Amino acid sequence: MKKLIKVGNVSMGGGKPVVVQGMVKTPPSDKKTAAWINSMADAGCRLVRVAVPNAFEASHLGELRKKVKVPLVADIHFDWKLAVTAAASGIDKIRINPSNIGSAAKVREVAAVCRERGIPIRVGANSGSVKSLNKGDSPKVKARKLASAVKKEVSVLEKAGFYNIVVSAKAEDVETTVEVNRILDKLAYPLHMGVTATGPRSSGIIKSAMALGTLLREGIGDTIRVSLLSDPVEEVKVAYSILSDIGLIKRKINFIACPTCGRCAVNLRAILDEIMKAFPDADTPAAKTLNVAVMGCEVNGPGEARNADLGIAFAGAKAVYFEKGRIIQTLARSGALPFIKAKIKSGIS
Ligand code: SF4
Repeated sequence: MKKLIKVGNVSMGGGKPVVVQGMVKTPPSDKKTAAWINSMADAGCRLVRVAVPNAFEASHLGELRKKVKVPLVADIHFDWKLAVTAAASGIDKIRINPSNIGSAAKVREVAAVCRERGIPIRVGANSGSVKSLNKGDSPKVKARKLASAVKKEVSVLEKAGFYNIVVSAKAEDVETTVEVNRILDKLAYPLHMGVTATGPRSSGIIKSAMALGTLLREGIGDTIRVSLLSDPVEEVKVAYSILSDIGLIKRKINFIACPTCGRCAVNLRAILDEIMKAFPDADTPAAKTLNVAVMGCEVNGPGEARNADLGIAFAGAKAVYFEKGRIIQTLARSGALPFIKAKIKSGIS
């Protein structure tokens, strides 16, 4: 079992459930940053990382920490002094990049302040910054090089008597990500997993689901971050979808919808969007999942969605409401949306 590490009031490793974390896209000095972080927290994000690119931004960390309701992680590259300032400012964890933070002596300075403050350090390597990576390296070679960059920095910390560590290595492709995490899983420290530089939003979702889904199903990983070229709240929702789709957690509402075919006479996509808009927290963890189907025709819809707890299927000017594949009621299409929304609301309350 991994060592148990505390980041503020959040525990990771030690057999604890996988922690969803995220990264806010604005810097500490931006007036919107605290609101973004709190929206991420409302979506279920347990800790949030913020980039600290310079001393000016580092000077805003203390104020920002007071305004947010989840532990804050300072993301530091290049300048070890920023890590020292950040650690002293009341934040909950430091992430350093082993490829650019500098000499062992500098890392020891950072460790000394973190030890004093009782906060962990994540040693987070990234395929974009490990200098030994060469164009044309196979995923297996890339994975070995990334893992060795992490292990080297971990050993600097251990030699300094610092063990309050989380590790990670991220690559932009699925295979390297899977391989490197399989290697790092052998270390004693909690493993933070994610795919980096994932590309367009839809590719990012697919790559994250494939890599994280594969690893989590192997029992690997203590905390995940989904990186998307999208808003940070969506990253959190996608992370929970992955956990829920592989059965590690239950989400509040699971929407099922058919792909439509020539039998469908409505704009099912718009209808589903409208229903989902009424339940923005559908992906958040819950003790029980309500399975809701939205189907394009009444002939096959109820049968195709017989495993749904409840659902609606469209039929010309009418719609049918069904539960577990059995038609309960026929409605006018105009009244179908308020009706199904009310049923969902009572189903989750
Ligand atoms: S439920 Fe009806 S509209 Fe949807 S895919 Fe099946 S047959 Fe086509």
